[in-house]
Amino acid sequence: MSIALDLDQAVARRPIPKGRPSLVGLMKPELAQALTAAGIGEKEARMRASQLWNWLYVNGATDFTAMTNIGKATRALLADTFVIDRPEIVSEQVSSDGTRKWLFRFRDPQAPLLPPVEVETVYIPEEDRGTLCVSSQVGCTLTCTFCHTGTQKLVRNLTAGEILGQVLMARERLGDFPGGTRPDDGGLVPAPRGSGGSEGDSRAITNIVMMGMGEPLYNYDNVKNALLIASDGDGMSLSKRRITLSTSGVVPQIEPTGREIGVMLAISLHAVRDDLRDVLVPINKKWPIKELLDACRNYPGLSNARRITFEYVMLDGINDSDADARELVRLLAGIPAKINLIPFNPWPGTNYGCSKSDRIERFADIVNRAGYASPVRTPRGRDILAACGQLKSESERLSKKERDALEGAIAF
Ligand code: SAH
Ligand code: SF4
Repeated sequence: MSIALDLDQAVARRPIPKGRPSLVGLMKPELAQALTAAGIGEKEARMRASQLWNWLYVNGATDFTAMTNIGKATRALLADTFVIDRPEIVSEQVSSDGTRKWLFRFRDPQAPLLPPVEVETVYIPEEDRGTLCVSSQVGCTLTCTFCHTGTQKLVRNLTAGEILGQVLMARERLGDFPGGTRPDDGGLVPAPRGSGGSEGDSRAITNIVMMGMGEPLYNYDNVKNALLIASDGDGMSLSKRRITLSTSGVVPQIEPTGREIGVMLAISLHAVRDDLRDVLVPINKKWPIKELLDACRNYPGLSNARRITFEYVMLDGINDSDADARELVRLLAGIPAKINLIPFNPWPGTNYGCSKSDRIERFADIVNRAGYASPVRTPRGRDILAACGQLKSESERLSKKERDALEGAIAF
């Protein structure tokens, strides 16, 4: 459907009331404040905020009527004033290896006439864990030449509520909330860990990686709030050691990430020389390898038990020589590090190819001999374009004129 048609419809439907704000993604004090603004007394608001927190993040409630420990009148007030926003599922695909990919659609409740945006979220089940790969932006401002998302212009940042909405919706679909049922469609969900497994976690989603669409450190505040909420002990309680944020190298935001969010860090390194990294990961022109690695050395909380993961995509004939492997080991000396070798995942229109498997093995050997264990990441979900760097959505950026016209229609 063309934008012109959307505009015609928008004008025909005015005036449009602004939507009720969503409670998902508000920090605890903001939640209490929202309740006071709705007319609930301060002391009661604090108590209601804790109850709501439990309903939203422990029980996965989507409806105020389910909140039986909140009085009827207050529930009605809440329902009149707020919503509990979750993304719409546009599609859900299950790969032959059990990987699951959703295309989620978000509408901005404050600007209901703007076209919705869509992002992809991927669930990767393994025997002892289940990892959810979450998007932080619709598209990306960066243009890493081997990445499919990099071919989609940034449409907008996701809000904290939209980042968390991906986790809530995935948990819902995987039967991870109390009373939920596991899907029965061939997709795998990890076996309960029982007493032998670490932390006895039997949830489908045990780990989160901010490795979907977008550069999380270019949407720092929303990513921070979403991850602080996901790791909050009164809510979803995901351990910060099981949350990894991957960045292409936004150096000034690396220290605050460790200090304020405290999650595990992954760096998309991909090249060991600045001239090549300038091409593969163009943000390198702004913050070259030396500055990036200095920021890594100073990452708050870094230790042998909390290592930084360095991601290295294996591109045939580009960055996969023995000399590259040796230089990689030399560069990382002294940084508590893990190395993840990622076989390049092709996407329609790319000129790159994946390194041959004997080349990857040889590269991995050199890295292994330097003391880094099992570094090759098995590609998952390639058949449904769900593997690293294959994510992209159809959402397009509107021109300023188009946005103004739509927002003008709302203001009438
Ligand atoms: N923007 C962030 C996080 C998203 S990308 C970042 O760049 O770190 C997640 C990981 O997938 C990054 O290491 C990225 O470099 C890698 N990646 C991108 N395209 C890829 C592809 N086609 N094949 C394999 N890995 C890819
Ligand atoms: Fe953006 Fe990361 Fe892709 Fe680079 S690799 S274009 S930073 S999503």
